[in-house]
Amino acid sequence: STQFEIRGLKATIEDKEILKGIDLKINGGEVHAIMGPNGTGKSTLASALMGHPKYEVTEGEVSLNGEDVLEMGVDERARAGLFLAMQYPSEITGVTNADFLRSAINARRGEGNEISLIKFVRQMEGKMKQLEMNPEFMHRYLNEGFSGGEKKRNEILQMMLLEPKLVILDEIDSGLDIDALRIVAEGVNAMRAEDRGFLIITHYQRLLNYITPDYVHVMMQGRIVKSGGPELAQRLEAEGYDWVKEELGIVD
Ligand code: ADP
Ligand code: MG
Ligand code: MG
Repeated sequence: STQFEIRGLKATIEDKEILKGIDLKINGGEVHAIMGPNGTGKSTLASALMGHPKYEVTEGEVSLNGEDVLEMGVDERARAGLFLAMQYPSEITGVTNADFLRSAINARRGEGNEISLIKFVRQMEGKMKQLEMNPEFMHRYLNEGFSGGEKKRNEILQMMLLEPKLVILDEIDSGLDIDALRIVAEGVNAMRAEDRGFLIITHYQRLLNYITPDYVHVMMQGRIVKSGGPELAQRLEAEGYDWVKEELGIVD
């Protein structure tokens, strides 16, 4: 079963240290949520794990099923089964959603094991139906002119088709109305499996009413400062983050 582990991870952006030592272990079948105030380094953690060139890892280790993730290039990480649904998915003109997805799937499956066109179309249509997406999105340029909610559904579509080992969702709930949130959450819940772990980054507790996490972690100033169960998310929603700061003597 999947084992993902982060040990003492530190990362900088333009020489400014943002991640100050993150430790986190996610086993297959588990859903972990990271909550925290804005600007605390949540997206930086997601990007650093995926190998985004803007973020420099200065210390620490990351492993997926015993393999050293930090040694891998961006494509290799995706092939190994890491997946990030981004907070702000980019638009790519000239590449249709279908073309993009098919190359991503084939990159993940590896040479000599490419998916047939018929099977790809059948799978894509099935998942799009499940996500209540208009079939025309298959032939649109990637994310171009998509609304916020459509981009988020499209990220979940990618996740469903790629069948990753470790899924990172960065504020997948932002910009979603309640119906879209329910559909996205159902998509995520349908993907929960023994050999797949989830790291769900969210600013609000609302999403966690639909996707019940096993563990909740609070991130502040580049560190995980508190961990607990779903009740921790509820307390943060009701009382905000100030009590955590007081409890731990954190000064802004
Ligand atoms: P969160 O996702 O928790 O809101 P971020 O990881 O986006 O926080 O940002 C953490 C800190 O890093 C913030 O102070 C932010 O201004 C800074 N930061 C993030 N991305 C960049 C970037 N590309 N260039 C410069 N600073 C950045
Ligand atoms: Mg933010
Ligand atoms: Mg963020």
